[in-house]
Amino acid sequence: MKAITGGRIVLLDKNTEGSIADGCTLLYDKGKIIGIVRDEVIPDCAERIDAKGGYVLPGFVDIHVHGGGGSDFLDGTVEDIRTVTRTHALHGTTSILPTTLTCPNEVLFRSLDLIIGEMERGSGDGAEILGVHLEGPYFSGASKGAQAVAEQRIPTLEELEEINAHAKGHIVRWDAAPELPNMDLFAAWLREHGILGSIGHSAADAECSLEAFEKGFTHLTHMYCATTTEHKKDQKVHAGQIEAVYLEDGFTTELIGDGCHIPRETMQLVFKLKGAKKTALITDAMRAAGTDCERSILGDRVSGTPVIIEDGVAKLVDRTFFAGSIATLDAALRTAIGFGIPLIDAVCSVTLTPAEIIGFDNRKGSLESGKDADIVITDPSLSVCDVIIGGRSIM
Ligand SMILES: [Zn+2]
Repeated sequence: MKAITGGRIVLLDKNTEGSIADGCTLLYDKGKIIGIVRDEVIPDCAERIDAKGGYVLPGFVDIHVHGGGGSDFLDGTVEDIRTVTRTHALHGTTSILPTTLTCPNEVLFRSLDLIIGEMERGSGDGAEILGVHLEGPYFSGASKGAQAVAEQRIPTLEELEEINAHAKGHIVRWDAAPELPNMDLFAAWLREHGILGSIGHSAADAECSLEAFEKGFTHLTHMYCATTTEHKKDQKVHAGQIEAVYLEDGFTTELIGDGCHIPRETMQLVFKLKGAKKTALITDAMRAAGTDCERSILGDRVSGTPVIIEDGVAKLVDRTFFAGSIATLDAALRTAIGFGIPLIDAVCSVTLTPAEIIGFDNRKGSLESGKDADIVITDPSLSVCDVIIGGRSIM
């Protein structure tokens, strides 16, 4: 048994706003959280870990991330996958949902095979892979962002089954444009397989988004980035996806937490209107996250898009679009707090909220008894000092 003492423990659960426990100890054993006790009653057998006045947080959960450490999940080798999960783990991410871009099927299938293989081995000292997140290929050219238009298409049952076979049933989340043809079929297929549907890279207006919500698209991909908002048509002001998310309480969403895509007031607005329980912070990181390179590639090394790294963000070479962030979740947490989001809310948005959105909150996202011992210890300024995954320090 291990006992983390001397830290400010951030406690979160589904039904309260959360709190900070001072003068308490977090106990864990055999990979699971046992609970929080007063310092006076630490069992004699427990091995003590001193948090030295820093924070003791649940491990971070990244539900939208493409790469890091110079590698991308689409690169096509096990080593690349391990580089990404390891890089983000060193920044506090203990659970990860590898994200694929719109790409040729042979690239997608190869990557899914490798990611799921690595997930099943459960090996190494990187973030735990919870399944996969498919960003595309059923997108609208009208809101492409950095996605490859040539590969965009409409879903068929045959292709869904083929992709799912390569993912061995471990697709957790799938982003698509709900205004495309065949989306009733797609939505029904997602429901049948228990997969989170997310509106992404879509031209849908509010009306279409609210219809999509009823069909199971309950999440909005990187809000304010490649999403629609209020616009004038026939002299009337029509609402977009963003307003639909505000209107429908059940919608969840996510913000790229790099401090560039979503500036201060925009982030404050989303937290004010949706709240931390419905808003996840994501990295949407590409391969340059956790590196100091100035040029990089978005997507796989062979057929990906060249990008430049400038002002702390990846951009297409012509600078017309941001092309993914280079954030890590520890930096996103500090950015949100710097933007005025209360600490407990910001922590919730990188832990319990994303775990709930993808349906893994039974074992991830908070330091509640019985959950996996995924723990981040930081210093008082929220720099990561130790990362514990399944009860094992990986630093
Ligand atoms: Zn993405």
